[in-house]
Amino acid sequence: MIHNFRLLGNDLRQHSPLQLLVMRFAHCLFLCGWLAAAPQGLNACGTESQPPELALVNGVIYTGDAAHLRVEAMAIHGEKIVAVGTTRQIRALAGPKTRVIDLHGAFAMPGFNDAHIHLASGGQAKLGVDFEGAKSLAEFQLRLRARLAEHKPGEWITGRGWDHTLWPEQRFPTRQDLDAVSKDHPMIFGRVDGHVAVANSLALQLAGITKETKDPAAGSIEHDSAGEPTGMLKESAVGLVSRKIPPLTPEQRRRAVEMALAEVARFGVTSLQDNSAWADFVVYQQLKKEGKLTARITEWLPFSEPLARLNEMRQQGGTEDPWLKTGTLKAILDGSLGSRTAALLAPYADDPSTSGILRFEPEQLKRLAIERDNAGFQLAFHAIGDATNRIALNTFAAVVERNGPRDRRPRIEHAQVVAPEDFPRFAELGVIASMQPVHESSDMRWAQARLGSDRSKGAYAWNTMLKQGARLAFGTDYPVEPVNPLRGLYACVTRELPEGGPAGGWQPQEKIPLEDCLRAYTGGSAYAEFEEGKKGRIAPGQWADIVVLSADITKIPPQQLLTTKVLQTFVGGRLVYGK
Ligand SMILES: [Zn+2]
Ligand SMILES: [Zn+2]
Repeated sequence: MIHNFRLLGNDLRQHSPLQLLVMRFAHCLFLCGWLAAAPQGLNACGTESQPPELALVNGVIYTGDAAHLRVEAMAIHGEKIVAVGTTRQIRALAGPKTRVIDLHGAFAMPGFNDAHIHLASGGQAKLGVDFEGAKSLAEFQLRLRARLAEHKPGEWITGRGWDHTLWPEQRFPTRQDLDAVSKDHPMIFGRVDGHVAVANSLALQLAGITKETKDPAAGSIEHDSAGEPTGMLKESAVGLVSRKIPPLTPEQRRRAVEMALAEVARFGVTSLQDNSAWADFVVYQQLKKEGKLTARITEWLPFSEPLARLNEMRQQGGTEDPWLKTGTLKAILDGSLGSRTAALLAPYADDPSTSGILRFEPEQLKRLAIERDNAGFQLAFHAIGDATNRIALNTFAAVVERNGPRDRRPRIEHAQVVAPEDFPRFAELGVIASMQPVHESSDMRWAQARLGSDRSKGAYAWNTMLKQGARLAFGTDYPVEPVNPLRGLYACVTRELPEGGPAGGWQPQEKIPLEDCLRAYTGGSAYAEFEEGKKGRIAPGQWADIVVLSADITKIPPQQLLTTKVLQTFVGGRLVYGK
């Protein structure tokens, strides 16, 4: 299909041989320009056009580019795609040194861009006890007991991933449940959402938490009927215990990042918009220096840090490097639905005693937001409940009013429950809805109970967002959810549980077509990090960030998304997963 053949965005058919020569010359200049900017900076480039270093041929390549949605082949030079077209056309560009990979009909597409991830936490979780998917309190205890021998008495045991909504008990674990496994090791384990945690008696004791301890601001210590702490700590109260845990050694920290990066590559994710600690960012910098970074990372900085410190971090972290940069500020405005800490406009349907926990005072939030926006930072607010989403939108409106128009791309992370009248405000204010479709398939088991039927209609509402003109960016919130994007795509098109059901999906009016899900997960995420010209499509001039899958996911029944495998992952033309 000749109309698919493009070289730097030009269609060859329209040009005379002379024009073609000029284009080839321009092509070469273009290569020289960016090669000189690349860190190695060694590649010489004459006035002749160079053959590509790499060609992927015989594929079913989904470009994400509406004008040429499917091509067979692409040419890559350095880190960028330089041409797309038919296998014959791309083979014709190859020189003796071009490495040609035959895709044998496999499906390739732009690498996934996870717009919301906690990479280092994901890796660190692998260092601790993993409770993900435990189906009962007994299984929780069993997994803990299995790891006990690795720790000397007195040594901290940490971990995460438990979810009481999967248990027949349907209740939070208690310190006694943990004490039954060990009273000699201080222990604290985060729920799957990272917003609440359970500690054992020794950990509470080391943190000085007693019957008398007052709740910290924006958090709570759960008490039993006798007034004793149960071991459950919510939101900021988790910090009372977690700050007693000795810090990771540098080796542990690096090991954690390496494990998480390997996991990300295995699932075809090539770009990360990441919320980790500064110490982890320093690890990323080191890996980049060693040429071992296997995904592009935009790191978020903590919104509440003093502005001077934020400026310093931005200075040190940079904002331009295509592999690693900073610039976005993340603030957590409320909790999660699962633990009933997301702030709602009206009380929880299944617990009228609470409407959640708001972690910022709105006027204070506005003041900080205006100041930080004025310093040129992009703002990203974690907002799950409808009360919090409204506060986030109000805050962004106040920022525009005070600081005037600019291309600021404010983001709401999660945007899970939105009041009907607030949906149009996303488009009006240019707010990106940064959502995690896989949350819907995990949360639908209890979301309706938490919210009641009216509010459920505006929950995880991708279709309403799109219809109301909002821009979507997709991610996973890993390790809250597995990093596998195919799980998210499945949720996006079905709104069903992985095992199937409810028939037709939960709140089925909010399903969206696969093409829209893919766009949110590639181009939409790229837009959310100001990278839409460089990522998210397979087209000349874009980074060669590509995933090769075992099936054409645009053609298979949704259930098969869950069994589709990643065969290869390329970042900047370099194979980072597969062979
Ligand atoms: Zn969040
Ligand atoms: Zn998160």
